[in-house]
Amino acid sequence: MATLDGLPPLREVIDRHGLDARKALGQNFLLDLNLTQKIARTAGPLEDCTVFEVGPGPGGLTRAILSLGAKKVIAVERDSRCLPALAEVADYYPGRLEVIEGDALKTDFEALAPEGPIRIIANLPYNVGTQLLVNWLLPRQWPPFWRSLTLMFQKEVGQRIVAKEDDNHYGRLGVLCGWRTEARMAFDVPPQAFTPPPKVTSSVVHLVPRETPLPCDVEKLERVTQAAFGQRRKMLRQSLKPLGGEALLTRAGIDPARRAETLSVEEFVTIANLL
Ligand code: SAM
Repeated sequence: MATLDGLPPLREVIDRHGLDARKALGQNFLLDLNLTQKIARTAGPLEDCTVFEVGPGPGGLTRAILSLGAKKVIAVERDSRCLPALAEVADYYPGRLEVIEGDALKTDFEALAPEGPIRIIANLPYNVGTQLLVNWLLPRQWPPFWRSLTLMFQKEVGQRIVAKEDDNHYGRLGVLCGWRTEARMAFDVPPQAFTPPPKVTSSVVHLVPRETPLPCDVEKLERVTQAAFGQRRKMLRQSLKPLGGEALLTRAGIDPARRAETLSVEEFVTIANLL
């Protein structure tokens, strides 16, 4: 069967290398190269970019990123069984794919980053993805080393990432993402698009660093959101009592009778900066 890029179909690659999906590694592979291209295209123009890919697996998304012209892909994969399949992709695109065997959670991406624009693209087990996302949002230096993050999550996690105030999904993750980035939901991916299919629908989210930074100490912001959303049904004068309650809110110019989910990211930052 012909493929978009001239390499063998992914199903054949998986069979030939014995890459039966392992649940413990959150392996749900995407075999449709049109879909992997759609994800890669969501990241924006790739021609002049180095792309960090996390969890390339048998290489479907990797192939899409390379076929769309990324200058270089640096891919971090934990499962050594995938390395021979990825070596075939590297041979097909000489000098453009570097594979690092290791745990993405222990990888210092910033230290690996070459000169020039960097984009990060990943289809990862969602718990690893959430932790990596938080790590990528935390550097003190802002804008960060990356130009965009294009990541697959369980749909419910994606909704929490992009949520704004007055949305049921709005919480600590939404405030953290909104503080540092502009995050948008790109599109949903149904379970049957994966092999094997996961239980729930997934979503691709795309984040770029905020154009107008909101200077704030992240530990303080976390203290405020933890207290506020820890008791999200209560009025802020009650939930923020340990941090200064009504007096703090009055100084911030915020009605103490409001609830956490009605506060904008800017308002959370104002409170954090008064601690
Ligand atoms: N990118 C491929 C695709 O779209 O078909 C594979 C996606 S699969 C959902 C997740 C991949 O992440 C697997 O290849 C798995 O081995 C890898 N992985 C899981 N945990 C990892 C970690 N901590 N660091 C790096 N890779 C990891």
